[in-house]
Amino acid sequence: MLFGSIVGQEVVKKKLIRSVAENRVGHALLLSGPEGNGALALAVAFARYLNCTARTPEDSCGTCPSCRKFARLAHPDLHFVFPVVRSASSRKALSDEYLTEWRETLLADPYLTYERWLGALDSENKQAGIFVDESDQIVRKLQLTSYEGLYKVIVFWLPEKLNQQAANKILKILEEPPARTVFLMVSEAPLMLLPTLRSRMQEVEVPPLDDAVLMEQILPLMDGDAGRARLVVQNACGSLPRALLLARPEEDEEALLQQFANLMRGSWAFIHKANIGPFTEWCEMMAGLKREQHKMFLSYALRMVRECFVISVQPTLAVLSPGEQEFLRRFRGYISVTNAGALANELSLALRDIEANGNKNLVFWDLGMKVGALLPSIASSS
Ligand SMILES: [Zn+2]
Repeated sequence: MLFGSIVGQEVVKKKLIRSVAENRVGHALLLSGPEGNGALALAVAFARYLNCTARTPEDSCGTCPSCRKFARLAHPDLHFVFPVVRSASSRKALSDEYLTEWRETLLADPYLTYERWLGALDSENKQAGIFVDESDQIVRKLQLTSYEGLYKVIVFWLPEKLNQQAANKILKILEEPPARTVFLMVSEAPLMLLPTLRSRMQEVEVPPLDDAVLMEQILPLMDGDAGRARLVVQNACGSLPRALLLARPEEDEEALLQQFANLMRGSWAFIHKANIGPFTEWCEMMAGLKREQHKMFLSYALRMVRECFVISVQPTLAVLSPGEQEFLRRFRGYISVTNAGALANELSLALRDIEANGNKNLVFWDLGMKVGALLPSIASSS
């Protein structure tokens, strides 16, 4: 990863590069910001830049021995800490035990998300964390005084997954870091960090990507369809992986709309007509999907509820594809100012539960029942 291969974030890149030029690299940086902003890639590019022996004012050289090792993420002074799953067969839950998978996954996808990493770990139903063994391991590594490069760098992804015990040990290292050691923590939820941990780091905010930057990335993938690309960008919330996912062929968007329509119709029929068939079909269909698809669906459903509400208030403001317009034209009488907030709340809660690895069968069954109860038995005529 070079700075030049990371989209947008010019302000952050300049700030990091300037700290090297002015010889005031902090020993602990916290790159904070929402998923999909490229912060992990920036951390790796910065680690590379710190160790490059022929760096330019813009970027690493890409060809020195250090750069060549960084290109494989295999420099002896580059260490990674990331959430892992404690498996029954392994004695310890350490990042190093998953280093091969980590390198492969990150090289293939520098905008790695937590869900994708869980997928790579093949741990669909387990929560990954950073455990106390990991803190001991970091202490051991930092005690080794040999350096090949200029800096020892620990790229620490998602410190919010640290358990309490592990976090306390990390605190001690951050208090008295060895010389020429740099911690680059990448957090999507800095507020979840221990305040004592956060206060020991210099925070660099990595904002969501600009719409223009996302547009530039996805437009060529969408055959130049600027209208649809704008829709995608609006729903991507500054996340490149999300924009890329949303920019998939239209059939996928139709599938999401179909799932949403099935949820609304199925739950309505269940609660108001005591007809459970379509509802259980929908639940079974959702159970067959993966967590990433669940998240995608719930985010989509949230948007549809919002758009439905917007249509009822100010039709010209809604941002919809023709298929969505057609569905909402028939359905909008069921979503109004009286239930839109509560519906959005239930969808958000389901999204939170899915993100926290809740039991998907229960989450979707529960969601469907609540949605059905919130829908009126007959459409309003607004
Ligand atoms: Zn170099």
